[in-house]
Amino acid sequence: MAKLPILEFPDPRLRTVAKPVESVDDALRERIADMFETMYAAPGIGLAATQVNYHRRLLVLDISEDHSQPLVFINPEILERDGSQVYQEGCLSVPGIFADVTRYNRIRVRALDRDGQSFELEADGLLAVCIQHEIDHLDGKVFVDYLSPLKRDLVRKKLAKQRKLAGEDAA
Ligand code: ZN
Repeated sequence: MAKLPILEFPDPRLRTVAKPVESVDDALRERIADMFETMYAAPGIGLAATQVNYHRRLLVLDISEDHSQPLVFINPEILERDGSQVYQEGCLSVPGIFADVTRYNRIRVRALDRDGQSFELEADGLLAVCIQHEIDHLDGKVFVDYLSPLKRDLVRKKLAKQRKLAGEDAA
């Protein structure tokens, strides 16, 4: 397994629309293992393939505190959506930034698992937020897109400043 570098906003590669996964094979399962390692190390609760510069429709999630509920979604599709909720979201591609986003409260998703088997899952609360957030990544969207242009600009400036400080530390 290997930890993968995570793309950071406003990297234009985060705008890529991911293509469907064509075959669920050992190479893909190795990539899935790398994505879990990367997500847990960050640490984070969700990671889309887009964020590690792999542009296929694949995401991993684990909202448990002890890494006990790993979930893999390959070619996920939202079948039903209902209600709304506001959650303060963060993102490994937008480090240190948190903002309220309104999303559907309950969704029904169909996807393939790591063995290529189709499954359906009904999710609400945080799990529903995470799935919607990660599917957005596969469509080239980042959660800060839901903010006003002014706020998004502030995020961009804050990240540039953080990166500059980090660069100075490294020097
Ligand atoms: Zn994200």
